[in-house]
Amino acid sequence: MISRALCLAAHPSEKLTTEHLELTDIPLAPLLDGEVLVRNTWLSIDPSIRLRLGESAPSGYLPPLRIGDALVGLALGIVVESRHEDFRPGDLVSHMHGYRDFAVVSAAAGGLGGAGTLTRIDAHDWPQQWYLGPLGSSGLTAYVGLFEVMGIRPSDTVWISAAAGAVGSIATQLAVHHGCTVIASAGSRRKADHLVDALGASSSFDYHDGDVGSLLAQAAPDGIDAYFDNVGGSHFIAALDALNPEGRVVMCGAISTYETSNTLPSNLFQITAKSLSVRGFRAGSFGHLYDRVRSTVGSRLANGTLIHEESIYDGLEHASTALVDLLNGRTTGKTLCRL
Ligand code: NDP
Repeated sequence: MISRALCLAAHPSEKLTTEHLELTDIPLAPLLDGEVLVRNTWLSIDPSIRLRLGESAPSGYLPPLRIGDALVGLALGIVVESRHEDFRPGDLVSHMHGYRDFAVVSAAAGGLGGAGTLTRIDAHDWPQQWYLGPLGSSGLTAYVGLFEVMGIRPSDTVWISAAAGAVGSIATQLAVHHGCTVIASAGSRRKADHLVDALGASSSFDYHDGDVGSLLAQAAPDGIDAYFDNVGGSHFIAALDALNPEGRVVMCGAISTYETSNTLPSNLFQITAKSLSVRGFRAGSFGHLYDRVRSTVGSRLANGTLIHEESIYDGLEHASTALVDLLNGRTTGKTLCRL
């Protein structure tokens, strides 16, 4: 059997363009015991794949893809054929072989830091793609970052960057609901206004409007107690300067460094001087919390106190545009490709 897949055509040295990616027909091997054949229905478009498209990947992370390799990413699909007793044709499943029409998936294989293991999804009354967004990896990441890693407190003034995106928009609303004063930043005036008007942030700024440190100081004249970092680079530097003593940083992601070389901040001594805690995490290691996240986020989605937005691209032929648009801030909320 043959499936279309989005493959790496050339390693980008800086900005990814659609020319670095190409749709290719790939052969699918016959099913072995323990495997299922899945027809993908929704692809999660995530920034982290960009880390694997260059000639090298950050040490400690997943290895770079080679030219010709199919991209991988979280996806939902319907089981077409099964050689595993726990999965039947017609089951809705999540797995890590996104960016293709069909995939042969082994139930035994973990992947993407634990987030990509083959799992049956009972979508109940929710739109199935929400299991890639607020009820899936994005919701888990926001929840874990705030409640398990940051140790968020109602008295906190919290800054959340890339706050109009998939993780940031949920983190912003959960922090607001928790009673925090939330400062949210994003890449356009329209997004910044939306963060206050619709998501409930106390204040917001467009990081293009000047020096990030100055914009943050204006938004938080008394400093911040915690920072949820989705961006890294200049944002991380600004946070170290603005954090109050004993402040906390959650290093969720560093998207500003995914397409450029990363240099160490020159103000790292702030961590010592102010007794700051800086902690990274991979949401895939917290998969045991999915039920709690789905109950917390799901009840808020149901009663309308949590808004979820999506940027949807139709067809595998538009997955490369979706990824490039995401990396360039042209999407809002969860970015998805519908097959
Ligand atoms: P988003 O939906 O937030 O999309 C990424 C956004 O980042 C873009 O829309 C853009 O919005 C912003 N951005 C892009 N380039 C820059 C830049 N140079 N400076 C500032 N902002 C920029 O993606 P996700 O919600 O899926 O992911 C958010 C972060 O969380 C990423 O860093 C990702 O790698 C990380 N992540 C970490 C996980 C973990 O387990 N630790 C799991 C999932 C995600 P804008 O218009 O605001 O510029």
